[in-house]
This record gives sequence, structure tokens and C-alpha cells, in this order.
Amino acid sequence: MSTLFVVATPIGNLEDVTYRAVRILAEVDLIAAEDTRQTKILLNHYQINTPLTAYHKFNIKSKTQYLINLLQQGKNIVLVSDSGTPGISDPGYELIRESVNQNIRVEAIPGPSAAITALSVSGLPTDEFIFVGFLHKKPGKKRRELTALQKENKTIIIYESPYRLLKTLEEIKNIFGERPLAVCRELTKKFEETVRGTAREVITHFVGRMVKGEIVIVISAQDTQRERE
Ligand code: SAM
Repeated sequence: MSTLFVVATPIGNLEDVTYRAVRILAEVDLIAAEDTRQTKILLNHYQINTPLTAYHKFNIKSKTQYLINLLQQGKNIVLVSDSGTPGISDPGYELIRESVNQNIRVEAIPGPSAAITALSVSGLPTDEFIFVGFLHKKPGKKRRELTALQKENKTIIIYESPYRLLKTLEEIKNIFGERPLAVCRELTKKFEETVRGTAREVITHFVGRMVKGEIVIVISAQDTQRERE
């Protein structure tokens, strides 16, 4: 029976891939990758020669059907995104949904995701959380999204670009006040850092610096009572 393998890949450090992921990547007929050049770096590192095909937001419709046809012909296919877990703020959902609709076997090869990695080192409650992904780029819409989260009783996980970090932290300061938060930058990479404190304190750390790299913001729930009990 042919299978679509949904394979998580490193979010920076090439060693953060499972033995099983390496084996499956080497064994399948085809790897559908969001960015073939990026995935090639991983494949070269592990001396894997499986053919690659691009699967990204600009060819999702046509490519989903193409990949479904191959799966129906008995091919085994891996789906990977640029980094982390496919489908998590990344392409993947359409192919997975269509495979499910067509009764094609879908199997997860689990591994890193920036959201869970950041949560795990944030120092904030991990028992209940909400993953927001990327906020809207437009300031007004972003403010409304953050305001809607102000009364959230779960830890909040947000993906953010380094270029918008300071502006977003200013909004968080205005809306969330003295709430504890963590900014995780470049997780698993050479310049990894996690800055913890209130938005005001974290702004002080980043202001005047050229902020680079990939970022996750983790914000404490409104009700931090649970932590004290
Ligand atoms: N599918 C990925 C996952 O499972 O985490 C997420 C892909 S999304 C397009 C990319 C965003 O994830 C980045 O803009 C950043 O917010 C976050 N991210 C990815 N790698 C990261 C890292 N090494 N450190 C911090 N944040 C990271």
C-alpha cells in the first residue's frame, strides 16, 4: 500500500532529524519539498539521493493532483517543508487532506516544530497553550488579533519576523501590560537566544540592535494563578 509520509525536518541544526526520518527519506520514490534547494542541503548531509519535486504555495493545486496520481499508482512519497513540521504555518494541508479523502495511507514521521521547541524552553506554563502562527501584517488587524487574545487563559505561541519584532512587542506591551513572555530567536542554531521578561524588558534587550533570524514569541496566559497554586 502506498503511503504519504509527513516528515518533520530540522528547524536549524541538521542533527535534529530522527533515524527513521533519514531512512524513510532514502527509501521513498519521491520527496515533495517546499524548497528543493533547502531540502537538498539536508539530503546531501545524509547522502540521500531520492528525487525531489517542488510543492509550494504557488503550485499547490496542480501539484496536489500530480502527487495524488503518483500515490494512486503505488508510489511512496515524503512531504517536507522548509523546516520543522509540514502543515504548521507551512504548505502540506491540501495534500494531506486530499490523501485522506482518497483513502491513501498518511503516516507521520514526527520531529521538531519551532512552536513546541520555543514553548519547551519558555519557562511559561506548558499544560495548556494556543498556537496562533503568524499574526496579520497590517498593524490595525494585528492589534485586533492581539486584543482578542488578551483574555486568553492559555499560553500563547506566535511566529514573528525579525523585522516586525519590535513593533509587535510594542503592541504586546500596550495590550498585555506586564505579562511575562519569552522571545526565542534562532532556536537550535549558532546564535540561539531566549529572552524572558515583560514586553518592556524584552524591548530593552532588542532595541537598537539589528534583529536577525527566526523568532517565536511565547506569552503567558492572562490567568497565571495556576502557576502559583
Ligand atoms: N513548519 C515550521 C514549524 O514546524 O515550526 C514553521 C514554518 S514557518 C513558515 C517559519 C517560522 O517558524 C519562522 O518565521 C519563525 O517564526 C518560526 N521558526 C522556524 N524556525 C525557527 C527557529 N530555528 N527559531 C525560532 N523560530 C523559528
